[in-house]
Amino acid sequence: MRKNISILDQYKDYAVNIGIEIHVQLTTKSKLFCASAHEQSEKPNSNICSICAGHPGVLPVLNKKAVDYAILAGLATDCSISKLCSFARKHYFYPDLPKGFQTTQGDIPICTEGFIYIRLDDGSEKKIRLTRIHIEEDAGKNIHASGSDESFVDLNRAGTPLLEIVSYPDIESTDEAKSYLKTIHTLVQYLNICSGNMQEGAFRADTNISVRKKNNPELGTRCELKNINSFKFITDAIEYEIQRQIELIESGKPVDQETRLWDTKKNVSRSMRSKEDAQDYRYFSEPDLPSIVVSEEWIARMQKTMPELPRVKQQRLINDYGLLLEQADIIVNDLALVQYFEKAAQHTKSKRLINWILRDLMAYVKEFKISLFSCRVTPQKIAQIVDLLDQNKINNNAASQIFLAIAESGGEPAALIEQMGLQQIGSMEDLEKIIQEIIAKNPNQVEQFKNGKQKLFGFFVGQAMQKTKGNADPKVLQELIKKYLK
Ligand code: MN
Repeated sequence: MRKNISILDQYKDYAVNIGIEIHVQLTTKSKLFCASAHEQSEKPNSNICSICAGHPGVLPVLNKKAVDYAILAGLATDCSISKLCSFARKHYFYPDLPKGFQTTQGDIPICTEGFIYIRLDDGSEKKIRLTRIHIEEDAGKNIHASGSDESFVDLNRAGTPLLEIVSYPDIESTDEAKSYLKTIHTLVQYLNICSGNMQEGAFRADTNISVRKKNNPELGTRCELKNINSFKFITDAIEYEIQRQIELIESGKPVDQETRLWDTKKNVSRSMRSKEDAQDYRYFSEPDLPSIVVSEEWIARMQKTMPELPRVKQQRLINDYGLLLEQADIIVNDLALVQYFEKAAQHTKSKRLINWILRDLMAYVKEFKISLFSCRVTPQKIAQIVDLLDQNKINNNAASQIFLAIAESGGEPAALIEQMGLQQIGSMEDLEKIIQEIIAKNPNQVEQFKNGKQKLFGFFVGQAMQKTKGNADPKVLQELIKKYLK
C-alpha cells in the first residue's frame, strides 16, 4: 500500500498525538426524547414538538432504539457495557439549543474502554483504544441568511439521537487518523445504525491534536478542530495543524488550548474559542430521566443481531475467495460493493470476478455516477461474463463490449454474444482453415514474404484479424501464420 507524504517527515524529532470524537447520527425513526420524526425535511421546524423545541415543563422519554444501537456499537468495539448509566445536562447557550443545555451522558456513559483495529499503510494493523461511547441529543441549526443580516433557527435536528465515540490519543499520524475514521465509518454502516452520509452531517469528527518532541513522553497542549465532515478536509486540517503547532514550538511560542475551525476554502484553521474544560459546562445529573438499567439479557439480545463485522468479513473473503489483502480492504470498506461482490460470487468461482468488479464495474458506475445496484450489469450478469471468458467462449475485448452493451441497455450475456457476433473463434481447426485460405488467396504476397519482405507479416495478421472479426487470440493467429509461411 502507498505511503503518503506527511509534514511529520520533515520534523523527525516530533511526534503527534491525535484523539478523535466522532458524532454518529443514529437512524432511529423518532428523536431521542420525543415522538417527533427523525428525518430530513426541506421545511424548517416541521419535525418538532414541545419537547425538542424545549418548552418549559415538558418531560423527555428515552427512545429505546437509541439504547439498542449504543449497545450494538459498544459490543462491536469491545467496550464494557454499563449495567447502570444515566444522563446529564451540559450547559451552554446557543440559539439552536432552546433548553440552554444538551442532554448527554456524564461520568457514566453506556459504553467504556473499548478498542478497534485500523489498517496501516504497510498492511499491518494497529489497536486504537476508545475511552467511551455515549448517547446524546443533537442541537438544531442556525441559518444565517446570505445577503441580509437576519438569522433563523431550524429545530428539525434538535433532539435527534447521536452516539459520540471517543478515542484515546493513540492516533499518531494523519494517515492513522484517516484509517481510524474510515474504520468507524464502515463499522456503523455495517451495524446499520447510521447512514454514514457525511454531506448531511450524519458522521462528523472533532479532532484533538497535540505535538511533542519525541523524547518527551508527556502530551503537548492540544487544539481541537471542530466538526469536519469530509475525509479530505480532515486530512488537510490535521496536516495544517501539525505544522502550525510545530512552528509555534520551534519559534519558542506557546500552543494555546483552543477550539479551531477549518476554513475549507482557504485551507487554514482559525481560532474559534479558547477551549472550555468540563467544569465550564456545569454538568449535573439530568433529573427528568431515570437511569438506564441494562440487563445481561438485553446485551445478549443485541449480540444476537450482530452482523458479520468488517474485520472478520475481510479475513473470510481472503480465505474463501483468494482475494489479496488490498482487494479485500477496498471492497470491505464499501458496504454496497462487498454486498455486490458476495452476490456475484454465488454465481461463479472465477478468479477474474474481483478484477472485473474493481476495474470495469467501478469505472462505469463512477463515470456515470450511478449506484452499484442500479447498474444494469447485475451481480449475476457480471458472473456470467467472467464465466464465458474462463470458458474461452469470448475474449477480453468481446467481454468488454458485452459489459458495456448490458450497462447501457441491458440484455443477457449469452444472447448478446450471438447478436453481436462476438463468438471467440477458438478451435485450432477453425483457425488453421482460415489461415490456409488467406495464404491460398494471396500467392503474390506469400512469394514476396518468402523472398525477404518481412514487413508483409503484418499484412497476413491484418487479414486474419479481419476474417475472425477480432474474436480470435492474436498470439495464436501469429503462430499459425508463421507455421504456414515456412
Ligand atoms: Mn458531543
